[in-house]
Amino acid sequence: MHPLRIILAVLVVGFVTAASYISFLLYDRYAALDQAGLWNVTWMFTQAPSEFSRLEHRVSGYAAGLPGVDENEVRLRFDIVVSRLSTLNGREASVFLGQSPLSVATLQELGAALVQVEPMLDDLGEPGKPAEILSVLEPIFPKLARLSVDANTWNSANLNRDRRALFDLQWAFTGVAFGLIGGGCLLVGMLLFHNRLLGRAQDVLRQKEQSLVIQNARFDAALQAMSVGLCLLDHEDTLIVYNARFLELFSLDASRDWEGTHISDALEGHLSGGDIFADTAADGESSDDITILSSRVQHMPNGVVLRVSREKTIEGGWVCTFEDITERQRAQDRVVQMARHDALTGMANRLYFWERTAQALRQNKDAGRGLAVLYLDLDRFKEVNDTLGHQVGDELLRDVAARIMSTVDPRDIVARLGGDEFAILHVSKGDAEESCRRLAARLLTVIGEPYLIFGHEVSVSTSIGIALAFDTDLHPDTLMKNADLALYNVKAEGRAAYRFFSMRMLEDLQHRRNLDIDMRQGIELGQFEVHYQPLVLLKTGKIVAGEALLRWRHPERGLVPPGEFIHIAEETGFINKLGEWVLQRACRDALQWPDDISVSVNLSPMQFRDSNLVKSVAAALVQSGLNPSRLELEITESVLLQKNDANLEALRQLKSLGLTIALDDFGTGYSSLSYLQRFPFDKIKIDQSFVRDVDRWPDSLPILQSIASLGKNLGMKTTAEGVETAAQLEIITNAGFIEAQGYYFSRPVPFTDFVALIEVPETDTASRITAFPRPA
Ligand code: C2E
Ligand code: MG
Ligand code: MG
Repeated sequence: MHPLRIILAVLVVGFVTAASYISFLLYDRYAALDQAGLWNVTWMFTQAPSEFSRLEHRVSGYAAGLPGVDENEVRLRFDIVVSRLSTLNGREASVFLGQSPLSVATLQELGAALVQVEPMLDDLGEPGKPAEILSVLEPIFPKLARLSVDANTWNSANLNRDRRALFDLQWAFTGVAFGLIGGGCLLVGMLLFHNRLLGRAQDVLRQKEQSLVIQNARFDAALQAMSVGLCLLDHEDTLIVYNARFLELFSLDASRDWEGTHISDALEGHLSGGDIFADTAADGESSDDITILSSRVQHMPNGVVLRVSREKTIEGGWVCTFEDITERQRAQDRVVQMARHDALTGMANRLYFWERTAQALRQNKDAGRGLAVLYLDLDRFKEVNDTLGHQVGDELLRDVAARIMSTVDPRDIVARLGGDEFAILHVSKGDAEESCRRLAARLLTVIGEPYLIFGHEVSVSTSIGIALAFDTDLHPDTLMKNADLALYNVKAEGRAAYRFFSMRMLEDLQHRRNLDIDMRQGIELGQFEVHYQPLVLLKTGKIVAGEALLRWRHPERGLVPPGEFIHIAEETGFINKLGEWVLQRACRDALQWPDDISVSVNLSPMQFRDSNLVKSVAAALVQSGLNPSRLELEITESVLLQKNDANLEALRQLKSLGLTIALDDFGTGYSSLSYLQRFPFDKIKIDQSFVRDVDRWPDSLPILQSIASLGKNLGMKTTAEGVETAAQLEIITNAGFIEAQGYYFSRPVPFTDFVALIEVPETDTASRITAFPRPA
């Protein structure tokens, strides 16, 4: 049993015993009081009548001469009565007398009688004296008896009242005592309840303590297993808690207890090169010891990069974490490098070049240096790529990059913008234009020198567009666009040169843009028409085909030849729509001609970029109902240059539709005979430049002859374009060409004129041809 409970039980028992004992004592006192009350006043008054009667008895006895009764005896009895009277007049009886005026009168009567009797006692022996005395005393006795009864009555009434009061008192006490006992019991109950509560609280506390211990162990395990270094500092920056990673990161001795060590002492001496948090001041906080920990990224002297973060604790200390982000930082650096650099050459990329240009333009405002952007584009790089493979192409790009780097000023920024495009941000000290001119000329020479790549000797030229930052408020986009536009002009004007940007180029650009808009509207408004030029079979002089040649009947400019707008349509991609329109028109028109006359339609290389080409050709045939064998498509060599395999595949699919394919303008482009080998063309159309010069420049003749015989050997028809004179007709006829086309027979004419032309009796056309000697 709990000691506290024993003490409480003892106390309660003692309490009950004490209360019972007090109750008993009270009862005892009550009895004693009862006894004493009976004896006191009542007794005093009850004695008075008997003592008075004895006096009377002695006086009468003395008169009667009773033996033993003498004068002394009478006096004695008289004195007793006197004494009784004085007692009754004393303090003890005063309470009773105060309430009974009759009794006071009786006592006064008694006193008066005694005063009257006393002198008579001296003469007691005289006869008649006793009788005289008795007569005085006689009336008093009944009154005294009555007094005695009154005293008795009063006393007992008094006693009764006191007893009741005592009784009430006892009950009150008992009540109080039981109240106390009850209170005590309640107290004990409460104490017991309190005890139980305490016990329960203790259990909960014990459980909490246990879970706290477990939690602590877990926390410690987690802390130690953390990949992040962690330390907890108190308000004086001394170490309270730290984990293994923290020690490891700062190469701190793990066997030593670092608790209580100041953070700066702990980290000092384990770091070379001074304060690793030196660059923290940038945070703008005061430079107390701990402030140094607020930095976000710290480069340690050993190359490790830490991300440090800290948080204030409620006690005024810090929780600091240290994360090793070396690898992440490296990866990030790599990403940044990749995002800003070209993977193939390691040069800046377009984005970075733009940033540097923008930066240079800003700085240029103050410095006033000459700033220029040079755009470089390798000429016919695609051919290298397509003929020698991508590996050679990549290597060539790397070599070109290296040559550019070795040519430019170290301050210049060089970038590869993509493909075979390079850009240079050139900073010149003196005359900017002159400096650019020199640099561009040097670049043309250096890049133009042959390369030896994987055993192949490769030659490549470059075109350069230059834009000078003439305006200090120039936007980098504008500067770069200007350089690009200058480059475009170089390319359009024949490549392997440099051009400075000029406002005229911008106007041209605007012109081209307007033309593009006009063209798009023109097709909707029906401004385009197709003219046809006959192709004549030399052997018979018969028209065997008509070449569809596009014309634009412009409301202001009149009839615009294709040379003025086709290249723009090719640039903008509008050629696809235009080409499709020509194809459909030509197929429909040809349907009106005799079955033995075919129609020839020119396809732009750009149309081969459209994956729907084959479909739209097939659709044109189906929609018109023209026999595919009457359709001939003319392509140029450049179709085979670009996207080699895909284009070859498209050509094969086209041919599988049942139509024929002619190689147009042969001899002007790359003129690789391998093209003739790679695709089985049905016809070769030699470019009109060879025919044009043949009268004046006889050297063309062997070329014409060999192409004619090449076609013969390869089983391909040969057509000579641009036949304007009888002499030319004779030469190409003698050279062995199968067909001819040119102003000599007819210019390209509108559809109706062409129909009229083919309706002319054969002899007329033939007579024109037969006028010239033909080979036997
Ligand atoms: P091309 O396919 O070589 O067409 C022959 C061009 O030579 C035509 O010029 C024709 O008028 C011209 N020509 C024919 N005979 C003679 C001659 O005896 N002397 C001279 N000096 N020229 C002659 P055109 O119509 O101006 O067409 C030029 C080029 O435009 C065409 O060359 C062709 O490449 C292209 N072209 C024409 N129409 C279309 C078309 O519908 N689509 C595509 N993609 N290109 C077209
Ligand atoms: Mg043609
Ligand atoms: Mg041609």
